[in-house]
Amino acid sequence: MPLLTPPVGNLPDTSLIIGDTRVSDSSGGTHPHLYAGNGALTSEVPMAGPVEVDRAVSAARAAQPGWERMPPPQRRKLLNAFADLIERDADLLTDLAIIDTGTPRVQAQRGGMVTAELFRYNAGWTDRLEGSVLPTWPAAALDYAVPRAYGVVAIIVPWNGPSISAGMTVAPALAAGNTVVLKPPELAPYAVLHLGKLALEAGIPPGVLNVIPGGPEGGNALVSHAGIDKVHFTGSGPTAQRILAAVIPHMTPVGLELGGKSASVVFDDIDTSIVPSLLHGIITLSGQGCINPTRLIVQDNIYEEFVAIATQTMAAIPMGDPNDVNTVMGPVVNDAACQRILGMIDRADSEGARLTTGGGRLGGELADGYFIEPTILADVDNSSYIAQNEVFGPVLSILRFSDEADAIAMANDSEFGLAGYVYTNNLKRAHRVADQLDVGNVWVNGFAGIPASAPFGGNKMSGVGRLGGKWGIEEFTRMRNVWVGL
Ligand code: NAD
Repeated sequence: MPLLTPPVGNLPDTSLIIGDTRVSDSSGGTHPHLYAGNGALTSEVPMAGPVEVDRAVSAARAAQPGWERMPPPQRRKLLNAFADLIERDADLLTDLAIIDTGTPRVQAQRGGMVTAELFRYNAGWTDRLEGSVLPTWPAAALDYAVPRAYGVVAIIVPWNGPSISAGMTVAPALAAGNTVVLKPPELAPYAVLHLGKLALEAGIPPGVLNVIPGGPEGGNALVSHAGIDKVHFTGSGPTAQRILAAVIPHMTPVGLELGGKSASVVFDDIDTSIVPSLLHGIITLSGQGCINPTRLIVQDNIYEEFVAIATQTMAAIPMGDPNDVNTVMGPVVNDAACQRILGMIDRADSEGARLTTGGGRLGGELADGYFIEPTILADVDNSSYIAQNEVFGPVLSILRFSDEADAIAMANDSEFGLAGYVYTNNLKRAHRVADQLDVGNVWVNGFAGIPASAPFGGNKMSGVGRLGGKWGIEEFTRMRNVWVGL
């Protein structure tokens, strides 16, 4: 058996899900999906083109009034049944996440349970969407405002963590009474297609959730379709800008969850024993995460010690077969990503950064996969290209600061504003810094995922709007005001 074989026997049908029909003969052609562990073809995945987009939007439109008018407890029951099936199939979803992008088993195995929890949490909102009664004058009248679903929502998710991204968006959209056309990316279609299949098995009416994998052509046809009432996009800034241009003719509202260049600010009252836990920015998804802390900003007097420990720790990270439970870090998504990451490391070198470990592509038995060594660049200048742009690979930049004001200025000197991390034992300073970071989410002294009940989203070029909690539901509803003369 060749080395680094993806978990076999579980490759699902990759045809599109439109209503309750599977469509394999699609107008967008096919995409050859390659396994990141060894570069081998897993299957030719049918891609949605304008024809399938049109069919999926029609199916979603037909299903929408019934879904929104369904008694909320019944909608809740169906969403909870969906969550139960996601939980039932958590192991299969782990295998599919490994196949999708080569995510190591130890990281992939959280995905199913997190996605199930997102559906369960949002199911609880179906009968909690409240309006307001407003004061009226001078005429006697009743004025009330009620939240209503948009209608049909187009949801586009990226390849890094597509199930969780789908859970963060599809769950509140459905709970609020919208129907959805969901487009997973060509690079990672497997797990999300399985979610679409489970929705039907749970009894969610056909057309409420349509799943149509596709690339730029399908994505563009979807967001520019006249039958779409709202777009939610998770992905990169350049694609977001193309989408914003594409929605102009219909002025379709857009929610955006985009990239980041998040800073971890480490003050000198912190013990060096925490250094390994600061490195999840490189390890998690091989650095391919929007909220990964990729700029480690360390105070002067502990700087060299932190660089040395970080270097030692990263050089010893077990890399290899994503399917092996002992693998801590896996490959990046494809060959193009390898080329981009190596190019950025070279550029950082030419801009004066000090490479302390890594910097290359792995060979030997990993040569056919897309494995980049965990890489640390010290003495990075915050104005350099590597400090200002998403690498989306296992590369950590370490920067030095002198005092609190300097640290905050450096952390905020970025076009992104998604996440920020602060490490200090000084309580007042922790809150002071958290208050001044220009980001949507701050983690102080640790990271434990994104709670389903918390708001999540970015400032500046990191996004528009918030997912999570009541804010996530509000993202998928709009108020209607009704004035009644008495
Ligand atoms: P991407 O922008 O290349 O693609 C995202 C999705 O958009 C894919 O499904 C793709 O097929 C689709 N697409 C491409 N062109 C399109 C077009 N013209 N019209 C409509 N859709 C189109 O991003 P990616 O490489 O898949 O994902 C990585 C990016 O996503 C990173 O920047 C990362 O930070 C960001 N991200 C953000 C969050 C968040 O919650 N803020 C979460 C995950 C990823």
